Amino acid sequence: MPKPNDLTLEHFMAGLKRRNPGETEFHQAVEEVATYLIPYIQKFPKYNTARILERLTEPDRIIIFRVCWEDDEGSVHVNRGYRVQFNNAIGPYKGGLRFHHSVNLSILKFLGFEQILKNSLTTLPLGAGKGGADFNPKGKSDTEVMRFCQAFMIELSKHIGENIDVPAGDIGVGEREISYLFGQYKRLKNEFTGIMTGKGLEFGGSKIRKEATGFGCVYFMQEMLKHHSDDLTGKSCVISGSGNVAQYAALKLIQLGAKVITMSDSTGFVHDPDGINEEKLNNIIELKTVKRQSLSEYAKKYKLKFHEGKKPWAVPCHLAFPCATQNELDENDAKELLKNRCLGIAEGANMPTTIEAVKAFQKAKILFSPGKASNAGGVAVSGLEMTQNSIRLSWSDKELEDRLRVIMTNIHEECVAHGWEDGYVDYVKGANIAGFSKVADAMLAYGVI
Ligand code: NDP
Repeated sequence: MPKPNDLTLEHFMAGLKRRNPGETEFHQAVEEVATYLIPYIQKFPKYNTARILERLTEPDRIIIFRVCWEDDEGSVHVNRGYRVQFNNAIGPYKGGLRFHHSVNLSILKFLGFEQILKNSLTTLPLGAGKGGADFNPKGKSDTEVMRFCQAFMIELSKHIGENIDVPAGDIGVGEREISYLFGQYKRLKNEFTGIMTGKGLEFGGSKIRKEATGFGCVYFMQEMLKHHSDDLTGKSCVISGSGNVAQYAALKLIQLGAKVITMSDSTGFVHDPDGINEEKLNNIIELKTVKRQSLSEYAKKYKLKFHEGKKPWAVPCHLAFPCATQNELDENDAKELLKNRCLGIAEGANMPTTIEAVKAFQKAKILFSPGKASNAGGVAVSGLEMTQNSIRLSWSDKELEDRLRVIMTNIHEECVAHGWEDGYVDYVKGANIAGFSKVADAMLAYGVI
């Protein structure tokens, strides 16, 4: 058994894989972080002796529960619900709920783990959690989604609270689902408190929350470009996804003078060489959030080519924004982007880029920001929603957008401070180290718990 100061990536990952068999997404997320943190930790015996990295990769607790609900025909369905309460060293557990057929423990543990460093980067007092269910809202009626959300909350309500754990949305959990979940909590507990974020504006939601992740991602890209004496004007941008994050990344890019030439969904991507303008984007938002249809309908309407089952990374562009899901941009996609002289990538989704693709971007020394830095705007405004709920006040759009802007600029500065090396900013290194220290120091202060 090696002593703590013999910590190596190989030994650490072997132990993690042994304790968490088959959880490939979780292994991937931890490996990316540990690659940077182990050399850093080696320099600081206090973290090493206290086994902070081992403690950071073991969730505080995991809650798994059965969710039974009836469809509109009266048939009974059984799903599995989860909440991974990963780490509350610096604040209440905070992180989204995902409803998607692919949801499993590995995916939620990777998301919860990433959330620790991301939430720390925002500078707000937010711990980390993630949850969800293998329930797919797609193709379900509103009443079926409502019944599922109510059944899910009957169990989740036992484990959350405004000072304990404050969930938000994620894939498959938008305003409709948050409203059903919040309404059910209110009914069960007979109290009106800010136990979720992303709520409707009529009942404690924050302005700019819906836009925050996408806007924040574009602000982060703007900062990276500025740091290299460049800007967004006239840059052609390839976006994947057409959900919450992608929609508002597209809107901010259009507003700041860039040209959005692709968007995608799980059925394929649409290429619009003239650029998606605000009117076309509104059409996409309605298609995806109200009608809940495939993007191919948009392609039909504007007589554009729809690339069924394909990803958009081979379309030549200056900038790329993966905003759909994990591992959607692999080494081959990275080669295409580099071949077409792409200048930079800002992750809007969580871990959309595989480790090999990240290495290819870093080797080519182009701009690359990991999701924990560039998509932190969403949880940051969720944190501000919690503050507004606590003081029972609502801030204006301007106040919130200004605060979001400042938070994203600060995260960028922290990444540069910790990631600058030989004239190149390694944003992955910068984000991992900057996010780590605050949480690690809080954990050390608490002693061995
Ligand atoms: P949405 O559910 O609103 O949108 C998801 C989008 O991704 C849809 O266009 C969906 O297509 C597409 N998609 C989902 N799975 C796949 C797949 N396997 N292959 C291709 N496309 C897929 O989710 P969000 O926009 O909220 O989240 C997107 C990403 O951003 C996730 O990684 C999430 O964790 C991350 N994130 C979200 C935050 C937020 O505030 N919402 C905050 C920080 C990160 P379709 O419509 O066909 O299903």
